[in-house]
Amino acid sequence: MAENGFGAHNQRAIVSMSGSTSQRSFFENVSLNFDKAASFTEHPSGLLDQIKACNSVYHFQFPIQKDGGYEVVQAWRVEHSQHKLPTKGGIRYSEEVNEDEVKALAALMTYKCALVDVPFGGAKGAVKVNPKKYSIAQLQRITRRYTAELVRKNFIGPGIDVPAPDYGTGEREMAWIADTYSAFHPEAIDAVACVTGKPVSQGGIRGRREATGRGVYFGIREASLHAEDMKGLGLTPGLKGKTVVVQGLGNVGYHAAKFLQEADCVIVGLSEFEGAIYDPQGLDIDRVVKHRKETKTILGFPGAKDVPRTLDALELECDILVPAALENQITAENAGRIKAKIIGEGANGPVTPDAEEVLKKRQVLIVPDMYLNAGGVTVSYFEWLKNLQHVRLGRMGKRFTETSLAQLIITIERATGHKLAPQEKERLARGPSEEDLVNSGLEDTMINAYNEIREIWKKTPGIDLRTAAFISAINKVATSYMELGIFP
Ligand code: NAD
Repeated sequence: MAENGFGAHNQRAIVSMSGSTSQRSFFENVSLNFDKAASFTEHPSGLLDQIKACNSVYHFQFPIQKDGGYEVVQAWRVEHSQHKLPTKGGIRYSEEVNEDEVKALAALMTYKCALVDVPFGGAKGAVKVNPKKYSIAQLQRITRRYTAELVRKNFIGPGIDVPAPDYGTGEREMAWIADTYSAFHPEAIDAVACVTGKPVSQGGIRGRREATGRGVYFGIREASLHAEDMKGLGLTPGLKGKTVVVQGLGNVGYHAAKFLQEADCVIVGLSEFEGAIYDPQGLDIDRVVKHRKETKTILGFPGAKDVPRTLDALELECDILVPAALENQITAENAGRIKAKIIGEGANGPVTPDAEEVLKKRQVLIVPDMYLNAGGVTVSYFEWLKNLQHVRLGRMGKRFTETSLAQLIITIERATGHKLAPQEKERLARGPSEEDLVNSGLEDTMINAYNEIREIWKKTPGIDLRTAAFISAINKVATSYMELGIFP
């Protein structure tokens, strides 16, 4: 389950390069990036205004029984763009959440889905609670009541709006949502497709849990394969031997670190909220997680040096920095001290726009959140498809593929006179499992999207990858609106 309790995205004092502070909200930051990118497109201003605006904002309250009394809980669901339906986006349980944050995250979902060709509009939901302060029974009541309110206002449904997990929510909450929705729609054969990120036993899909971190790995790997770009950073192409620091060992950070380590990166630094650890020889991610479980802290890991302040970890010597915890971590204040040459944004909004200006001048390559953490929604899309098809991915073709491959191997053996070892035969003649198909679909998506963005980046002078990602997303959403005939 994703943890919550992180600081709010918005209404933070953002230190500008001149040293003054601006009170730009999260949604304003997203809009700023949108406007920057929109100026490189030729779409009419009315169309751009329509894309940028949040279409539907539903803010509601409901009472729940707590400690012998009642508490009124605030909640939101924002559907940013209905140019494609259903809309899609996670539900966040956080004490610090507010409407601006939900709007910003919903907008990012629209652009993220467009970028990776997931045919959904963007949405986001939130309940203003700290789940750590509630019992499981209370959380269940909150989740079911939240879902009932969404049903009442037509803000949920397989073809309307499909939530997923975010901070403070996970598979458990998604199962409660699916069950509540089904209770309101007992006749709906597709009811389970009203939410994604469910447990596999409740209509979830294998590979969803790791999807965002795996996507982060695929995205960084793809960026590292372009020799020309790596040369500009003073790096060799490929991931092998590259040093990595990861902030946040939650769902995204843990899986990203694990897959990067498996690809022969050296994880030199890991940071959690209690501090960080550093070892230039490399840290074994699973051993660190085990150590944290046993001792309740990442600090004191055998052979590693403790770095007491978590923010200092961002400034450690490394090739690739993956902030995968929370927003606004790299600001104009610390951007000048970042040593990484590549920043892979696992979290949403970890680099502020002011910090980005500093980093750009220092030629740091930022692989933007909107693209890099799109693995979760991509695999949620696969889960939704699985639910609508009512069949596990690969079920129909697995054995057929295995039989055909086995036949092909026999034919090749006969023709060449070379016999393969039984294990090799087994490996070559394996039909794809659901997880194989999910991971391969995700890999393909991340590779294609990166190269689409990179092409825009390379052919548009003076822009960065983030602006290129926004341009790509804006163009795709604009095309949808034009095809709908709304903006001829
Ligand atoms: P999570 O709660 O599973 O993990 C976050 C981790 O960061 C926790 O272990 C927490 O202890 C740690 N952390 C908190 N403060 C920290 C600090 N100051 N320094 C270092 N570590 C700190 O959450 P998650 O699902 O991994 O999400 C992380 C980020 O990725 C968020 O910005 C989220 O919106 C984004 N994201 C998540 C998904 C997904 O599928 N889970 C998808 C897209 C984007």
